[in-house]
Amino acid sequence: MRIAIIGGGIAGALLALRLRQASRRVEPVVYTGSAADASGASGGLTRAFESDPEACRTAAEGLAELRASATLRDWAGFRETGSLYLLPADADPAGPLAVVDELLPGSAAVLDREGLRRAYPFRDLPAGTLGVAERHAGHIHPDRLRAAALRDPGISVRRTPVLAVTPKAEVRLPGGATAGHDAVVVAAGAWTSRLLARSGLPADGLRTKQIQYTVCAADIRGLGAFVDESTGFYGRPAEPGTFLLGLPADRWDVDPDAVTPDAELAHRTVAHARDTFGTPVEPIRTVASFDCYHDPAGLRLRPVAAGAPVFTFTGGSGGAAKTILATSRTAAAALLA
Ligand SMILES: Cc1cc2nc3c(=O)[nH]c(=O)nc-3n(C[C@H](O)[C@H](O)[C@H](O)COP(=O)(O)OP(=O)(O)OC[C@H]3O[C@@H](n4cnc5c(N)ncnc54)[C@H](O)[C@@H]3O)c2cc1C
Repeated sequence: MRIAIIGGGIAGALLALRLRQASRRVEPVVYTGSAADASGASGGLTRAFESDPEACRTAAEGLAELRASATLRDWAGFRETGSLYLLPADADPAGPLAVVDELLPGSAAVLDREGLRRAYPFRDLPAGTLGVAERHAGHIHPDRLRAAALRDPGISVRRTPVLAVTPKAEVRLPGGATAGHDAVVVAAGAWTSRLLARSGLPADGLRTKQIQYTVCAADIRGLGAFVDESTGFYGRPAEPGTFLLGLPADRWDVDPDAVTPDAELAHRTVAHARDTFGTPVEPIRTVASFDCYHDPAGLRLRPVAAGAPVFTFTGGSGGAAKTILATSRTAAAALLA
């Protein structure tokens, strides 16, 4: 069975690997471009807790698999720094916490504002803030994970951009060449909607959005990966003495080939970090990239048109590093079914 996957980011690479693991009769062919992509830029924060129970189960399954596999940990360069998820006063984390306890027993604990103040370097937190601290979380390097997956000898990798896809699972390549397959999966991240439009196929629900972080010199002690649900502020340790820090961008529908750093956002991120930790924070470099967003959010196999063997596997919506291990397995099973 020949399945073409368009895109060699973590979505396409891990889907190809899962297909091989599910059936040796599948011969995945991954076509990929050479532009800087989301998987190369990703911060890779990997935790189990999410306030949405379904997203939490997916992330927790992925993290449990990662922790159980020395191969995956090595491929992904997993660093278990711990993770803290800050929730607003009215949040009820009971449902997702039960999921984390089921899949990663003993990893998560809930702290109130006083407990957070004692354990973490936040200068001040709003009244009623709760924190979910996870011991067995941290970050991965999605770039390394996809490179390792694509080294599987059963996967053919063609470093050729696909120009168009037909509803009959044919791909059009530069120089007028075409290649036929039993199915095509477009996993081209932020380029997906453009490729589908060029192919005359619908791209319902897909948008692009800028994501950016600033790596800063900062002496922030006792904190691993973190995210504050109220503000979207997130970060993780980077090289010694530095922290990767980000706030959500609001640039939508960006062209992935023309994204530039948002200087005002970088400035705001550094100011927010200084205010949050009450410590000197000096910007070193800003990384601006993008992702494909879907409403509802999440990386999932979706048919492009009824009856056509053409699908998308995109829509990571800023979070596919933590969900890819589980979503790629589910998508491969759905494709083979
Ligand atoms: C700055 C940043 C920080 C992030 N931080 C986190 C985080 O901390 N935790 C987390 O869970 N997630 C995070 N994410 C999200 C996560 O990294 C992305 O959801 C994920 O990397 C998307 O992978 P992808 O394979 O869908 O897309 P991409 O990595 O963008 O890959 C798409 C691929 O398709 C190829 N392609 C495009 N068009 C064609 C074509 N016509 N023919 C052939 N190939 C084509 C491109 O060359 C590219 O390699 C972050 C993302 C960014 C940008």
